[in-house]
Amino acid sequence: MAGMAAALGIGYFAQDLAARDAQQPVTQRPQIAATAPFDQSGKPSGVQSVSASTSIEQPRDWSWLSRWFGDNDGASRQAGFSERDLDPTTYAHLAATRLPEGVVQAMQREPTEQVVTVKRGDTLMKLLVDAGIERGEAHQAIEGLSSVYDPRQLRPGQDITLTFLPPASLKLPLEIEVERKSALLGLALQPSVEREVQVRRDGNGGFAAEQIEFPLQTVTVLRGGRINSSLYETAIEAGIPIAALWEMVRAFSFDVDFQRDIQPGDRFDIMFEELRNEAGDVVNTGAVHYASMTLSGKTMPIFRFEPRPGEFDFFDPRGESVRKALLRTPIDGARLSSGYGMRKHPILGYGKMHRGIDFAAPTGTPIMAAGSGTVAKAEWFGAYGRYVQIRHNSEFATAYAHMSRIAPGIRAGARVQQGQVIGYVGTTGRSTGPHLHYEVLKGGGQVNPMSVKFPTGEKLEGKDFARFQKERQGMERQIAELRREMQVASRPGSSSRSAKAACREEQPDIC
Ligand SMILES: [Zn+2]
Repeated sequence: MAGMAAALGIGYFAQDLAARDAQQPVTQRPQIAATAPFDQSGKPSGVQSVSASTSIEQPRDWSWLSRWFGDNDGASRQAGFSERDLDPTTYAHLAATRLPEGVVQAMQREPTEQVVTVKRGDTLMKLLVDAGIERGEAHQAIEGLSSVYDPRQLRPGQDITLTFLPPASLKLPLEIEVERKSALLGLALQPSVEREVQVRRDGNGGFAAEQIEFPLQTVTVLRGGRINSSLYETAIEAGIPIAALWEMVRAFSFDVDFQRDIQPGDRFDIMFEELRNEAGDVVNTGAVHYASMTLSGKTMPIFRFEPRPGEFDFFDPRGESVRKALLRTPIDGARLSSGYGMRKHPILGYGKMHRGIDFAAPTGTPIMAAGSGTVAKAEWFGAYGRYVQIRHNSEFATAYAHMSRIAPGIRAGARVQQGQVIGYVGTTGRSTGPHLHYEVLKGGGQVNPMSVKFPTGEKLEGKDFARFQKERQGMERQIAELRREMQVASRPGSSSRSAKAACREEQPDIC
């Protein structure tokens, strides 16, 4: 193939004989030149400009050399050199050696980058060695990095960018060695959105560390929308990050049936923090302070509060925690289609013949334990397909049917926490499509989950309630302010009006 032939160059390595004759240790300061004549047939056709005095400080640092090796196009021909130019009779002090093809190929490579992702149980040393770096070199890099970053802080999912020199090196004089392993040039990682740390090879054979900090600004925003086909889509349209949406959905899952309670015209609002970098780009989501859902005209606001340091929860205006013994939506509510579009689904709803509640959701949607308890059953169960039953106390149990998969570790006798994923939506057993069939059992028989009354969660009292009231009022003032700003921003022509008003104040005779 012509294309492949073009990519392969022919290289010459020239050594300054004067330097060798002077008994200088050439590995320290060799005087060398490299040439790159190319021809499809292998016949030298030209030499890109060479310099007999170009020096290489580090025997390994020959990356500049690759610049003299190009592809077989005009650039090298235009140089107007020929092989004769390296003839010892022309340049008496130069000796030229033709390089093996593999070396030329290796030299043509630019430094490469590779991104590796930290997995559970990985150490930085293991990651670097797995990436083909020699232990000694990896150790040096880690040592260099440790002045700005503790490698034990590595977390699964963290990306690390490794920069390599191509896997070949020159040993001077005139010994060319292709190494099996690549040489590490540097590594960089971003332990947080605010900080990047890196090491780069320094001139002394070690690694120098550097830390770059990105100052972030926390901005509290209020966003919301009218719920269309699904909460998820509405949130995306309103610019609400999934992390904030998920926090709201989880908090309301104790009270709201996300499949059936949502009607046309219903809406939600979330007040949360955005972390922005200097360019104003949102790089992370902070805490959700407030959320509210308006369902069938009834607004349910909830506020973040820490009754005890580090232990936050959401509370309604009366100071009652949203937390209840059982979730009303034991599935990721954001993934459910709004109930009003799904009403006609024949398998939905609770009736005499159908003693459970169905949540239609895509196969694979995580199913959560509605409450904490002990797994009583986790197996194939006739028409129920893959089935899990959880006993919460001597009276109540919940059951989940038609799963595609039961989560690992969920077997009879296992303890589960409320909200823990116990399996995934499917359509196993007698089922007409992917959905979760959910039952609440009382004394062994099914009851209508809607009719079950559970005691409410924690209620704030005394000093805690007073502190909550004060914080809530502060949040309400902030919400009112953000709402006014949103209205001003969305009012058409508002900016031109205010510009006109400003003009009138400053230059009344022009405006
Ligand atoms: Zn069902």
